[in-house]
Amino acid sequence: MTLEEEISNRRTFAIISHPDAGKTTLTEKLLLFGGAIQLAGEVKARGERRRARSDWMKVEQERGISVASSVMTYSWQDSTFNLLDTPGHEDFSEDTYRVLTAVDSAVMVLDAAKGIEAQTYKLFEVCRLRDMPVVTFINKMDREALDAFDLLDEIEQKLALDVTPATWPIGMGRDFKGCYDLINDRLILMQAADKNIRSEGIALEGLDDPRLSEYLPQDRVDSLREQVEMVRGLCKPFDRQAYLEGHLTPVFFGSAFNSFGVRDLLSGLRDFAPSPGAQAAVERQVDSKEPKLSGFVFKIQANMDPKHRDRMAFVRLVSGRFKRGMKLKHVRTGKTLSVHNAQLFLAQDRELAEAAVAGDIIGIPNHGGYKIGDTLTEGEEIRFTGIPSFAPELMQRVRPVDPMRAKHLARALEQLAEEGAASVFKPYLGADWIVGVVGSLQFDVLADRIRTEFNIPVRFEPTELYTARWVEASDPKVLKQFMDANRTALAEDHTGQPVYLARNHWHLNKGQDDWPDLKFLKTKQEV
Ligand code: GDP
Repeated sequence: MTLEEEISNRRTFAIISHPDAGKTTLTEKLLLFGGAIQLAGEVKARGERRRARSDWMKVEQERGISVASSVMTYSWQDSTFNLLDTPGHEDFSEDTYRVLTAVDSAVMVLDAAKGIEAQTYKLFEVCRLRDMPVVTFINKMDREALDAFDLLDEIEQKLALDVTPATWPIGMGRDFKGCYDLINDRLILMQAADKNIRSEGIALEGLDDPRLSEYLPQDRVDSLREQVEMVRGLCKPFDRQAYLEGHLTPVFFGSAFNSFGVRDLLSGLRDFAPSPGAQAAVERQVDSKEPKLSGFVFKIQANMDPKHRDRMAFVRLVSGRFKRGMKLKHVRTGKTLSVHNAQLFLAQDRELAEAAVAGDIIGIPNHGGYKIGDTLTEGEEIRFTGIPSFAPELMQRVRPVDPMRAKHLARALEQLAEEGAASVFKPYLGADWIVGVVGSLQFDVLADRIRTEFNIPVRFEPTELYTARWVEASDPKVLKQFMDANRTALAEDHTGQPVYLARNHWHLNKGQDDWPDLKFLKTKQEV
């Protein structure tokens, strides 16, 4: 296959949802259809085994959440799907945001009884910022659900998004029979007896096909015809361009638990989800089909292998083709490395990456060399943009229980900051470190990791701080004046960039009012 063909067959996506909507179940079923796992239930079982292995992950085990995200690659028909998992708990949304910078589209899973929930809304907003195409999967149709028309209306109203049903449900709850495929005019019936069945659906010549009555009671046939007529009158026909631009979402109804609707979702993703496109770098647009490789680090994960204290840099390939052993330039440091040990992530295993193309994710074992946002190329000096760091909303002081270990703590914090696990600030005055997070659960995870991975017992203590802002100025003289006048409120982050630590809202506003020529940034682009 040519590079171009291979890239066109890639679908790199993430699932966004509110906890409990069915993301894990759907993931499992997608892998099952892709032949990547044999039995439903394995994703969770594997997750639990892995979690049980490592000490700090006890935090997530105890709270029943998943902190770590990973990549799952599988094939279906002629397409290769890279599904990037996102942590579900809202305290880890920062990690989720970064994962969303590495995908081309998203699947939004809703619980049919609940519609749009808080976390769905938040994550959708991130997709919207990037005009990302979103396919909707309304799950749990085998339970009592909201009316299908009301669900469509809710998506349209709350997300300001056009909707086009791709399938239409026949009944709900115990009475859920299946769906009518509005795009291909097929009847797809659910067989609840076998949860792992991969039903093909029944091809029909439209809704007037007399055979419809062979499969459904007459009153069902009548109401289906009526509803489909209504829905075709109310909703715009599917417009792929509007979907690709992020203005319209095609909606599938199903029941992941019963493997129902999963096949239709997959063929929808294959037929209309985007293949890897162009990505903006500071210097220029990079097209996925350019022959030379480029990519960026969007995630760093520690403890992939509990036997070694390893870190893995997850690299989204933006263009070209990766081959094992090729020389790649790490643009930030200017160093060139031969990459022999990159990994690919399958459903259950990792394997040595022999080859990969734009859209794929490779993992490079990393002993501290890479940071989130780093660009890799075959030599060109480009830097990809758009991976955000967020101003923390909670800040605590961290101290080693044994003061002699302060230096070690500094190194551990720097490493954790590079991984994106927290923001770390060193105030210009005083000896303490300040750690900032977006959600409070991150403090627990950090304390546990610093203790188990770096062997430094630490104490977190509350601070009077309200938030942090990265400070930038076009005129270095103004920046210097500001810094001289505000030393007590200043720190630097792990990259050495100055940060203003505000005690309260008023203090933040005053800083901004007094220094109109400075920028106080809530997010920092890692370049
Ligand atoms: P996540 O938190 O979004 O990953 O949700 P899970 O996949 O863990 O599902 C949450 C709960 O909903 C579990 O008990 C699932 O068995 C259940 N569930 C998932 N999909 C369905 C479905 O289609 N029908 C029904 N009845 N239950 C489902």
